[in-house]
Amino acid sequence: MSKPIKFGTPPGVKEGDWFADHDDLYAKDVHRGRGRGISGTAKTGVDSIVMSGGYIDDDDRGDEIFYTGAGGRDRDTGRLISDQTLEERGNAGLVFNQAAGHPVRVIEGLEIRGKKRRRATGGYRYRGLYRVADHWMTPGKEGFVICRFHLVKMEHDDDISPQPEAVSTTEGVDADMTPLEAQVRRYINSRQLARDTAAANRIKDMYGQTCQMCDLRLVVSPTGEAYSEAAHIQALGKPHGGPDVIENILCLCPNCHALFDRGALQISDSLDVIDGLSGQYRRALTRLSEHRIQVSYVRQHRSRWADRNGQIGVFEL
Ligand SMILES: [Zn+2]
Repeated sequence: MSKPIKFGTPPGVKEGDWFADHDDLYAKDVHRGRGRGISGTAKTGVDSIVMSGGYIDDDDRGDEIFYTGAGGRDRDTGRLISDQTLEERGNAGLVFNQAAGHPVRVIEGLEIRGKKRRRATGGYRYRGLYRVADHWMTPGKEGFVICRFHLVKMEHDDDISPQPEAVSTTEGVDADMTPLEAQVRRYINSRQLARDTAAANRIKDMYGQTCQMCDLRLVVSPTGEAYSEAAHIQALGKPHGGPDVIENILCLCPNCHALFDRGALQISDSLDVIDGLSGQYRRALTRLSEHRIQVSYVRQHRSRWADRNGQIGVFEL
């Protein structure tokens, strides 16, 4: 891969443009990864993907795409022969995009044909910029675990300029780390750079930086200061559109926050903490009476994983 990574739509290219083949995509800076579906690595993030396999687990809804990650496939047939992992470079790169907010160019292969290995025979179309809204591991239809990426179309006015944190996110990343450890370090850095709003700070103060789901208080200084994170129940931004108000925010430790944002922890209508994978009751959410959490927000949060676990009904207590 000789060209350097560049995020965004290249000059002279617009949404809907058609390209003859991978050489054409490469020449016009649309897709650097000739022959690869994912262009990028854990270190740089991913600037573009090509959907040309017609993989049975892919689900293309236009402005929203549920994209199957790379790896685990037989070279000749394209069928899955082992589990996919987040360590695979392209998948790790997409996780980095999610943390850093980098956009991905989505390119669609046209007229997918072939009995064994399926290929695009009608050229390629540029679909525009998408952000990586979420990722998770799930059993695929071929019986192996796949990495699933939820891609959401960005509006033209969304800010796609390279983020300044791209420089500072290498802080604390050293050569001894495995790619996954380095990726996690960058992820944590990027999260800490996200500035909290007044509502978020109010919730963290209200609970004294103590996690509402596990009661952990992470003391990070000799003077007893603690670290916590403000978690929005109905996520901010598209496509969820949750508000930045205290009725929609929890004070969580980083572990519970990561689990909650991926649906591995969920909240019932009666404000109990539920294991989102098994559906089992964990405990009651720690909550002060002046913190009125709105039920519509916890319902919207649970609905995001409705197709994953089909357990929505279990929570209606
Ligand atoms: Zn916790």
